[in-house]
Amino acid sequence: MQPHPPRSTIDLHTHSTASDGLHPPAELVALAAKAGLTTIALTDHDTTEGLPEALAAGAQAGVVVIAGVELNTDLPGGGEAHVLGYELEWRQPAFQSTLHFLRDARERRGERMAEQLQRAGIDVRWERIRELAQGAVGRPHVARALIEQGYATDVNDAFARYLTPGQVGYVPRFKLAPEDAVRLIRSAGGVAGLAHPAGIPQLAEAVLPALVGAGLGALECYYGDYDEATVARCLTLALHAGLIPTGGSDYHGEGMHPTPLGGRYVPVETVARLREAAQRQREAPPEPFTPPTLPTQAE
Ligand code: AMP
Ligand code: ZN
Ligand code: FE
Ligand code: FE
Repeated sequence: MQPHPPRSTIDLHTHSTASDGLHPPAELVALAAKAGLTTIALTDHDTTEGLPEALAAGAQAGVVVIAGVELNTDLPGGGEAHVLGYELEWRQPAFQSTLHFLRDARERRGERMAEQLQRAGIDVRWERIRELAQGAVGRPHVARALIEQGYATDVNDAFARYLTPGQVGYVPRFKLAPEDAVRLIRSAGGVAGLAHPAGIPQLAEAVLPALVGAGLGALECYYGDYDEATVARCLTLALHAGLIPTGGSDYHGEGMHPTPLGGRYVPVETVARLREAAQRQREAPPEPFTPPTLPTQAE
């Protein structure tokens, strides 16, 4: 246990304007360089559209950009599991077509959220939400529209008052099963990791065994503001399950998540471990992923 962990030089969980982050991909990379980072993973929700810009900026600035993604899934017992992908062969057409489907479902759900809010007398328009979202639209964009109109003081306030289950603006969206998210990432050559696992119910008893069975390769132990005891508990789980401990800030820009870019210590060798795991996987490719029957309309 190190009382003063060294400054982090890597951050493997970040979001850009391609999903619900506040900085465009090139700006995020510039901020990473300024923070002294040598590697970031860009892990936008349901999209890899930020990667070309991030990779180009990374090549200029000397920052390695790992091709990543984050897929939010529903757990059968309630709650969510967020599955990260690292080292993806992200251009694969089958992978892209599933991401397209997930983003389409986000669009329809966004429109329905705006309709529901309006029916409740809250003046928030879909057109404005769409403008605020440059890529994959999500509740944080609805939150920003609510703040603009004076209905909430910040993103957390908007979530609590309007955007969580039971509140007037909440609409669920189509999500993959957690195991399918893992399989999808593996089918695109990536290493699948379970994001911010500490709060997940039945983690050690049910969730991890099921995901490991589907091919999970990593566990996000060094997450955001996890304290040392939480990190240690996750590291034990990772060790027992043979998973690579990963980590990052989940940086979205100021005012969304508390940890600054590069603000969470992650061991630098994690990058090589992920690359080697992806390489090994490519030498013995997994079963091709058969997508679940995706509904033709919003749920
Ligand atoms: P969505 O993908 O549209 O369901 O929105 C979920 C995303 O919103 C999460 O992945 C987080 O990035 C963000 N989020 C969830 N809860 C909050 C919250 N209370 N405050 C700020 N951001 C949140
Ligand atoms: Zn997000
Ligand atoms: Fe997440
Ligand atoms: Fe995230």
